Amino acid sequence: MTETKSYETIAANVAAVRETMCKAAQGAGRDPAEITLVAATKVQTSETIRNAIRAGITVCGENRVQELVGHLEDNAYEGAKVHFIGHLQTNKVKFVVGKVDMIESIDSQHLMDAVEKQAAKVGVTQEILLEVNIGDEASKGGAGREEILTLAQHACQCPHLRLRGLMCIPPATATEEENRAFFQETYQLFVDMKEKLGDNGPNIDCLSMGMSGDYPLAIEGGSTMVRVGTALFGARPPWHPHG
Ligand SMILES: *Cc1c(COP(=O)(O)O)cnc(C)c1O
Repeated sequence: MTETKSYETIAANVAAVRETMCKAAQGAGRDPAEITLVAATKVQTSETIRNAIRAGITVCGENRVQELVGHLEDNAYEGAKVHFIGHLQTNKVKFVVGKVDMIESIDSQHLMDAVEKQAAKVGVTQEILLEVNIGDEASKGGAGREEILTLAQHACQCPHLRLRGLMCIPPATATEEENRAFFQETYQLFVDMKEKLGDNGPNIDCLSMGMSGDYPLAIEGGSTMVRVGTALFGARPPWHPHG
């Protein structure tokens, strides 16, 4: 956890990010209204999350199960939706399925089956995105691009899952040009998947890509959902992804 950020600070940052989003959308000939700002709230306090929602944030993205559980207990997300955007282990799906509006980070059939099983158990339809490891990084979560169609077809066979699209996180070290190419490839994968799913295609309408350092570029590349942390809440102390 880090110190609570004031409503005033967050509201000013939300306004600035929304303006940048708007300009990027218009520059690309897109309607700004079709792009959702997801606040990436990892390490933030419940009070900071409440301030963000007061400042107009409508979707919060959580990375870690432990933080999600704490904020749910605090009722911190009241008035907003919650997306799970971090790496999810199968033994923790019970803390997430049915508790969040969307899980953006499904990256294997094994995990998908665990989520389906839990969704059936608690009687919900869980919205999901498939996370694609677009930079083919060995250290990173996400499915390989060649696995995406198979996973998507499998998702359509799961009665308690609703597949909505794709999410990607390009390598942290990518240059602007590399990022542009990664976003284009992910967009193409998204369009191909939608087309190949035929009757299930119309549900596919979410492409989650873009973070503080690259969201204008991601919007140019067709993103419908940007996940922004630092630009809303300031720099985070170093953290450990599996902590
Ligand atoms: C932390 C995080 C973000 C936001 O990163 P910033 O660079 O701080 O905007 C987006 N997506 C995921 C999956 C994250 O873990």
